[in-house]
Parts: sequence; C-alpha cells; structure tokens
Amino acid sequence: MSSEPARPIATDRQTDNQPTVPHATVPQRATGKDMIEDAPIELIFDGFGVSPGIGMGTAHVREGAATDVTEYRITGTQVAAELKRLRTAAERARRQVARLQSKIRGKAKSISALAVEEIDYLLDAYFHMLKDSRLVRGAEARINRDRINAEAAVQAEIEAITQGFEAMHDPYLAARGDDIREVGRRLIQNLVRKPAPGYLAAVSKGSVIVADELTPADTALLDPDKVAGIAAMAGGRQSHTAIMARALGVPCVLGVPGLLSAIRSGDRVYVDGDLGRVVVNPSAETIQAFRLRRSERLREKRRLTRLAKRAAVTRDGVDIQLQANVELPMEMDAVLEVGAAGVGLLRSEFLFINRPTLPGEDEQYELLRDIVIRCQGHPVTVRTPDFGGDVRVESMTGEFGQSGASLLGMRGIRLSLARPEHLETQFRAILRAAAHGPVRILLPLVTSLAEVRAAKEILARAARRLHRRGAAIPIALPPLGVMIEVPAAALIADALAQVSDFFAIGSNDLTMYTLAIDRGDQWVAHLYDPLHPAVLRLIQFAAAAALRSRIPASVCGEMASDPRLTALLLGLGFRELSMTASSIPKVKQRILDLDLGAATYRAQRIMEQTDPVRIQALLEEGMGPA
Ligand code: PEP
Ligand code: MG
Repeated sequence: MSSEPARPIATDRQTDNQPTVPHATVPQRATGKDMIEDAPIELIFDGFGVSPGIGMGTAHVREGAATDVTEYRITGTQVAAELKRLRTAAERARRQVARLQSKIRGKAKSISALAVEEIDYLLDAYFHMLKDSRLVRGAEARINRDRINAEAAVQAEIEAITQGFEAMHDPYLAARGDDIREVGRRLIQNLVRKPAPGYLAAVSKGSVIVADELTPADTALLDPDKVAGIAAMAGGRQSHTAIMARALGVPCVLGVPGLLSAIRSGDRVYVDGDLGRVVVNPSAETIQAFRLRRSERLREKRRLTRLAKRAAVTRDGVDIQLQANVELPMEMDAVLEVGAAGVGLLRSEFLFINRPTLPGEDEQYELLRDIVIRCQGHPVTVRTPDFGGDVRVESMTGEFGQSGASLLGMRGIRLSLARPEHLETQFRAILRAAAHGPVRILLPLVTSLAEVRAAKEILARAARRLHRRGAAIPIALPPLGVMIEVPAAALIADALAQVSDFFAIGSNDLTMYTLAIDRGDQWVAHLYDPLHPAVLRLIQFAAAAALRSRIPASVCGEMASDPRLTALLLGLGFRELSMTASSIPKVKQRILDLDLGAATYRAQRIMEQTDPVRIQALLEEGMGPA
C-alpha cells in the first residue's frame, strides 16, 4: 500500500439522491485489481452507498470508535480491571505528553525561547496531573465507590473539580479549570481511543474521511466544502450518520469491511455513493470514468433544477406537497433552491449536538425564527428532540447511562417528558417563532396517548408563561402531531388521531422496530426492508386512520425520498412527503409522470401481497408511466 501523497482531484458536489429500494447486499471483501507497474495497486471495496454522488480525494483516516462518554455500571469483580484500564490510559497519555514535550524542545530554534519555556512548563504540569493528582485519584475513588466505568468516572471528577473553581470567579482558577478539562479529555480519549473532538472540522480541502465508525455528531461537524467523501466500516443506510451525509450532500459509503487495514492517510481514494463502492489508489481508467460520471451528473442536476418552480401535480391533477427534512440550518439554501413546500421534519436534536450545554430559549427562538422566515409562508414542522440511540447529547442522555444510548431506552418523547423543563423551553422558543409564520410541532417515538396529553400540558404551560411575559405568539396554538414510527403507535393510530392534529410516518424507525433490525447495523442491513408486508400494513393502517379522522398524514422517513416508492405512497393516500432536499427534484419528476388513479389501483394490489419478492415485482412493473 502506497502512502505516496495524493493530490485531491475533484469532487462531485451534486447532492441529488439516488436512493435504492433496500435489497439484500452483503458487503464484499476487497479485491486487488489492475497491477500497474510502478503504481500502487487499485483496491476495490464494496459497502452500502448511503449518500449519492461521487468524490475523489486524499484519505484522512480516523482510527478508533467515536463515542461520547457513556456511563455504565460495573460489578464488584470488574473494579480491578477498570482501575487497570484507567492506569493504562493515564500511562499512554503521559507518553503522548512526553513526546509533545520533546517535539517542542526541538523547536527551540524556530519559536521563541520564552514560548518554548512556557509550553514546556504547561506540559510538565499536564504530565504530573496524569500521574498522581486529584483528577486521577478522584476517578479511581469513583470507580471503587460508585462502580461506574472509567471514562464516566473521569468525566464526573472533571465536573466536580471545575465546578468548585468556577464558583470562585477567579481568572487564575478558571485557567486551571481549563487545564484540568484538557488533561481529562486526553485521558478519556485514551480510554475510548478517540482523537481530539472537533478535529474533523479542520481537515484539509479534498479529504475523504475514512473511519471505522462515524457518529451522526461527527458527521454534523464536517464541512461539506472540504470533504470529498466519507467511507466507514460500520453503519447502515438508515442510520443518522447516513441521513446526515445525505443532508450535507457528501458522497458516502458505509458498512465497508476491512477498509481500515488497506488504507492509510494520504492514499488517493474514490468514493462512489451511487454504487456503494470505495476505490483505494484508483487506476488511470477509474479516474477517467470518474470524470465522465461527474459531467453526466452535473448535466442531470441542471435538468432537475429546472423543476424547482413547477408544482408537484400528478397527471390527473392532484397536488402533492413535497417538503424537506432538515437537520442543520446550513441546509436551508438547498431547501429553497429545490422549491420545497416548507420543512416537513426539522430534526431539532441536531441543533443541540456537539455542544456541552443545550441552547437557551432565546438562542433556540432565533434559530427557528430564521428558518420560519426563510420558508416564506410554507409550514415548518419542528420535531421535539429525538435524542438517544445513535444521537447522543451528553447533557441530555448522560444521566440515563446506557439507557440513553439504547434504541429501546430513554429516547424521543420519553426523554423529553423526563426532562420537562427542557421541553418547555423548546416549546416557548417554537411558540415565539410561530409568530413569524406557520409552524407545526411533532413528537417523536410516541407509543401512548398519555405521552401526547402530557406534551400538550407542557405546551399549554409554555403558552401561559409567554402570555404572562407579554411575548408575541399566535392566538391559536400550532398543530401538534405525532410520529408514527413504533408499531404500537401505528396500531393505535385511530386513538392517536383523536388527540393529535397530524401524523408523520417515520418509516425508518417503524421498519427497525417492526422487524427488530438495528437500522445502523451493517450486518443485518440486508434484512432491513421497509417493503416488508408487516411494515406496509402498519403504514396503511395509520394512513387509513388519519383519513377517517380527517387529519393530514405525511411520510418523512427515507421511503419518501425514493422515487420508486412514490406511486405506492400516493396510492396509500399520502399527499405530503418530506425528504432530504436533494431528493425533491427526482420525486417531483416521478409525480409529474404518474396517474394517481392507476397508482391507487396498483397500491391495492401490492397490499394484497405477502411475498416481498412479488411486492418488488409489482413495484418495478409500475415504474413506467402509471
Ligand atoms: C424515521 O424514523 O423515519 C424518522 C423520520 O426519524 P429519524 O430518521 O430521525 O429517526
Ligand atoms: Mg425516527
């Protein structure tokens, strides 16, 4: 494997999605190909193409799993091993500091002697703090006493020490607090083998990020103008990392086994998010093919962009609302560019990640207000945070330990109701933003009527408080809807329709919970199938309940962005679809081509099937003009 520095060539900046109906693809092993004399061997890896487009650049390899600090309990017999783990991490961190020290001393000629002396002094202090200090002793005591894992013990000790310093309002002590945080962070990184936080944001232009695993939080930090592509060993198509990559328009392939053992930082890499292929050291022919594909894609993008101003109307004259899913405010340019009819799903948890504390009411209000104003009268659907699972925010999920990281634990509305003060703050911000344009509120992971009622009470309380403050809010409260993304919610959809104003079908989680398949797990990704009759029947049941109760229902899971499923969803009665902005032109093109009468008839035939193969065949038959 060559580590010869490779110059980034180019990246296809197209963001238009080319989703695939999920199918059984098991990632293949790498195969060596094309031995070119004096040139590095081209290696081809297959995985899941989760964000379309093609990108070529220089590998930036990030080793080690990226995890937030999660607390978990250990048993009495595990204490000794945990203490040993802490000591080993401290020892490793000391070696790193010592290496830094000798590097700095070697720079005595190029930087001032005074600066060298100061840095040397600081590193000395770090070295000793990693040896025997209140931080290390305190963490050891917590492992012994509280029976928790080492990284959580270090984190708790950092908080305890720095809180004391902060209370004294002394600039010298504040600086010492920063030193303790820095040393603690290094210790935690060595425990979880994680590089410095935020460093991904600083990679050089034309980088292809290569990792064993990228969290959604890591991905949200990436600068789409700098990153040519993403390739990781772990992850599935419907993971939030995949959703984030699509939102940023960065070509991405996940679930690529063996990748890290065959690639080094500096290698040239080609990421094909359409085919789900990663090519290390691409040959001259591969580079030529890349250039050809890039120009074709640009032409196609220009053609689809021309659709932005056209309404999404079926051939038989039925209007369909195509809205955008948004995670970060920076996506709003793309939302407007494709002519979306508002935001059908604002995943508000992404406004809160990568920050030590949650934003307050004013900051949330300003963020939301800007989005509402930019939508110019189209509705903005703000989903209350769906923390938990793969979207971890320490300040929210931390106190719940492993439950906060579990897909069956403290996530979605459960977590919000357990921390009602945060939910009320968000509701106040949403209500104030609603004074600038239409807003809807959406609750994630609902499983019972009681959850909706409890959220309504908090919303009413937020409104009363704002009235007392004399804040400008609309007279009528915004519509409050529920995500149908757990089988329980789909099966009680008729009752939920009585207490909520609209439904949004979260087909990603609905598929996961119905089929018992983790949507982020590459090993079962080939079994993840939103077209499984069980999933389709739940969707149909919820759609029918909404229709009977005359409340609107949309689909905002990834099914909505697949043009091959558009006729089926419309045929089931949906008139609102929400998706990554870049998918809107293709779905709109499909709507312009189809006849709703024929689509409804075909949807009925599909719903009579129990065999996924037959369902697939009927879908494919229907792909011509319906
Ligand atoms: C879903 O589950 O389909 C959904 C839209 O929510 P998320 O992908 O954020 O879990
Ligand atoms: Mg969901």
